[in-house]
Amino acid sequence: MNELKFSTGICERCESIDCLTRCQYMKMDLQTAKEERQRLLRGEKSRVLEECVTCYACEEYCPYGNHPFYHLVDQQEKLGIWPVPQPITKQQVLMMGPRGKITPKKVQPPVINMCYFPMLAGSIRGKLFEGASTIVGSDIFCNVMWLHFGKNSVIRKRLPEVIANIWDHYLKDSGVNELICFHDECYGTYTHLAPAFGIPVPFRPIHLFEYLNKRLDELQDRIKPLGQKVAYQRSCSNRLVPETQPWVDEIFRKIGAERVDRKYDRENALCCGAVFRAQQQDDLADDVQKRNLDDMAAAGAKFCVFSCPACLFTLGESVLKRGIMPILMNDLCQIALGEGMKGG
Ligand code: SF4
Ligand code: SF4
Repeated sequence: MNELKFSTGICERCESIDCLTRCQYMKMDLQTAKEERQRLLRGEKSRVLEECVTCYACEEYCPYGNHPFYHLVDQQEKLGIWPVPQPITKQQVLMMGPRGKITPKKVQPPVINMCYFPMLAGSIRGKLFEGASTIVGSDIFCNVMWLHFGKNSVIRKRLPEVIANIWDHYLKDSGVNELICFHDECYGTYTHLAPAFGIPVPFRPIHLFEYLNKRLDELQDRIKPLGQKVAYQRSCSNRLVPETQPWVDEIFRKIGAERVDRKYDRENALCCGAVFRAQQQDDLADDVQKRNLDDMAAAGAKFCVFSCPACLFTLGESVLKRGIMPILMNDLCQIALGEGMKGG
């Protein structure tokens, strides 16, 4: 089994223990955080392991990149403290496993990794994605979602196989070494989690927003500024890659959208709530979703842009009921390019 390579995990390096004291879901003063940290360092049970809702945010809060969350997940698994009921976890792990039926194919750049979202293949259209190839399916599914289930062992087993599938069956023989990640989670996997777990990545991952920025520069003559207020919903996996935040601001500037100033954006972002439902914490899901939607509405947002399709599926209908249009970033860019929305 690969051990965490670059990190110590939870550690005594900072006095403020940001990973625990800044947690939005587990109120903890500094003295309590010190005591719980000692328990974790001794490998003992801790209320942190019981109460962590797996929002990933402490990966962003740690000022030293020590991977406190990956450590928590390791410890949950070692001590059998399961964030999601075991029957659900077992069923999901089985259902989302590799099929082993991958057919090699030649691809040409730009190659867009659609992860496990075949239903979004229609999003790859228009000038933004001219000439693109797509890859999709269970055999290239990044598997990082098992962080929500206390199952780092599944990630350690499956991720090297996934990377080999992408490289051996698609990129290598096509002479392509860049992979555009449609889903935040894949980009977080290849740039953040894989190095931390000591898993090599032979290709260069590119975030969808980095790609969109480049295309908007190339297509700038076609852009009709939107002049709309937009709320941005960060995903849990975006906490692994906060360096993507400026790309959001850049895209909005280029398409004439205003990122509304609201309480639950940037480092204060709230989860979409999907994982809380899986954890059977419906009251928490209801509360978090209500606060988030109230915040978007109060800020006067006309669109809510999602970086993660799963967040869109979870929150989309509720957002729409508030009179706010839920949309993926690429679709918002399509509107600015005068290409309309998918199916519209
Ligand atoms: S993953 Fe989220 S809920 Fe869990 S300890 Fe870190 S910040 Fe708190
Ligand atoms: S925030 Fe980072 S440096 Fe501080 S205690 Fe947590 S893991 Fe250690």
